[in-house]
Amino acid sequence: MKAKKPVSSNKSLQHKAEKKVLEDIIAKKNDELNAAFKELAYQHEEKEKRAAELIISNIEHVIQSEEKVKRAEELILANIELAFQNEEKSKRSAELIIANIELAFQNEEKKKRAAELVIAKIELAFQNKEKGNRAAELVIANIELAYQIKEKKKRASELIIVNEEHAIENIEKDKKATELKAINTELEQFAYRASHDLQQPLRTVSNYLGMFEERYLNNLDSDAQKYLTSVKGVTKRMSELIKSLLSFSQVGQSKVLSYVNLKKLLDEVTGDLSFLIKKSKTVIEIGQMPSLNIYEAEIRQLFQNLITNAIKFQRKDTEPHIKISAKKLKGKTKFLVEDNGIGIEEKYFSKIFDIFSRLHGNSDYEGSGIGLANCKKIIELHKGEIWIESVPGKGSCFYFTIPNL
Ligand code: ADP
Repeated sequence: MKAKKPVSSNKSLQHKAEKKVLEDIIAKKNDELNAAFKELAYQHEEKEKRAAELIISNIEHVIQSEEKVKRAEELILANIELAFQNEEKSKRSAELIIANIELAFQNEEKKKRAAELVIAKIELAFQNKEKGNRAAELVIANIELAYQIKEKKKRASELIIVNEEHAIENIEKDKKATELKAINTELEQFAYRASHDLQQPLRTVSNYLGMFEERYLNNLDSDAQKYLTSVKGVTKRMSELIKSLLSFSQVGQSKVLSYVNLKKLLDEVTGDLSFLIKKSKTVIEIGQMPSLNIYEAEIRQLFQNLITNAIKFQRKDTEPHIKISAKKLKGKTKFLVEDNGIGIEEKYFSKIFDIFSRLHGNSDYEGSGIGLANCKKIIELHKGEIWIESVPGKGSCFYFTIPNL
């Protein structure tokens, strides 16, 4: 730019000065502008550098951002996975909780079981001890058993010997029994013959005694009369004995069974004994009676013996009361003949059925001691049994059974 020339010198000088100042200012300003430009250029450069750096850093940032996005994506994925894993974990933990609860329950059960096992162990120990005791006892028992077996074997061999001896004895007994039977038959025949044959001479003695009494009684002194009465009594008793013996030896001789109404038979027996029954004021009750196959004459004799005895063996202050009854049992009939007489002591219960066995003298109660032996023989003939139950001073009950024949 060109400075204008001043109108006067002063003016020109001034103008020049001003121009100089201006130029200086301009130069200064230029310098300043240059400096500012430089500064600006520098700043610009710096800015460009910075921009380039920024670009680079931006690029870096972008890269980083990208990386970060990638990383974020990865993180999201990782998160998703984590979330999934978390879910799995929570599922697993729920399962674990359940499993834990189950384990806790199982543990408790195990504890309980363990406690039970402890008790069971204690019990087992106790049982083992008991078993030990028992085993010891068994050992002792075994020893004892072995000893007993040894003893038994000894006893068995002894028994075998005894048995053999018994067998021999039995053979001997059988032989003896057959012999006895033969002797018995012989004796029965003898008793029959003897009693039968004795009857005749006894009757003759009795007849002569009657005649003697008739003709000479008035010529006899009192002593002779007494002797005569005694001889008559003995003869009568002897005659009765012989009759009883004769009937005893004839038991079962007829060997004919007949079907008999026992009520009817008993009525006949009591009819035959009516004089004795009335005289002794005896009351007889007869229960229901069956009809049976029996040896009639013998059973008639049996009832006659039992009723006569029930009347005969009566207490002084009482009147005879006899009850006769029958009871049907399996395969047989049981009869009862009960009285309210003097009774019999238990020790004589079997003895009274022996022949000639009497518990009283003839002065107390007359008899021959054959009646009950006869009854026994009659019942044995029927394959039955006869026995007595009695209370002395109260009465007796004779029982007998007759099997269905
Ligand atoms: P006996 O009558 O002739 O004496 P038994 O053989 O009939 O003979 O009786 C034997 C004994 O049994 C009798 O002497 C008597 O002592 C006793 N006896 C029999 N029947 C009765 C009875 N019903 N009550 C008490 N004693 C009896």
